[in-house]
Amino acid sequence: MEIKENYTAIKNQLPAGVQLVAVSKTHPVEAIQEVYNLGQKVFGENKVQELMEKYPLLPQDIQWHLIGHLQTNKVKYIAPFIDTIQSVDSEKILSEISKEAGKSNRKIKVLLQVKIAEEESKFGLEVAEAKALFQRYLNGEFPNVEITGLMGMATFTDDEEQVKREFSILKGLFDELNTLKTLETLSMGMSDDFPAAIECGANSVRVGSAIFGRRDYSK
Ligand SMILES: *Cc1c(COP(=O)(O)O)cnc(C)c1O
Repeated sequence: MEIKENYTAIKNQLPAGVQLVAVSKTHPVEAIQEVYNLGQKVFGENKVQELMEKYPLLPQDIQWHLIGHLQTNKVKYIAPFIDTIQSVDSEKILSEISKEAGKSNRKIKVLLQVKIAEEESKFGLEVAEAKALFQRYLNGEFPNVEITGLMGMATFTDDEEQVKREFSILKGLFDELNTLKTLETLSMGMSDDFPAAIECGANSVRVGSAIFGRRDYSK
């Protein structure tokens, strides 16, 4: 595996101003440390338990992003240190994050995860639900979170027109909510579709296998 070459190639493809979240799920701490040593500070994990195992073994200035579906009973474990939770897909989880952030005397940055894929996807808010939740946030609910943007995943398909159509839906919602309160982050695009996502307005991409190599779930 050539992590260094992969990482450098990805960095070189990203326009200035596009944030890279290096998705390290299933990969060992040694691989994460290697990418950290190349200058990467922002990493994404999708499972709380895996994150809790890795977190104490790695540099404390890593900004950890949670990118996978989160259960309410697990929020308390990550609330003291998580930088951003990208996968807010219900009112219930947003409310729990706000509560636990308060206990840790901090504000946690979150992204609302919106369903944009035409394929059946398990997690994510409908566009209307995301708007309603954002409005409640603007009205002062969820005081210990800061909604800094939106996250979405396109359908897993070779049809680039479809992928771009889906990304554009999220960009449209982002622009709309941005008129109500300035948002920082539009997180869309993974190893296979990040160039399309950037064309459609993403300013943050979540790239795993193109940096770390393929994931081996058999280990
Ligand atoms: C795994 C994952 C990624 C990264 O996927 P790659 O195809 O390996 O780049 C991005 N976003 C989410 C939500 C993921 O679960």
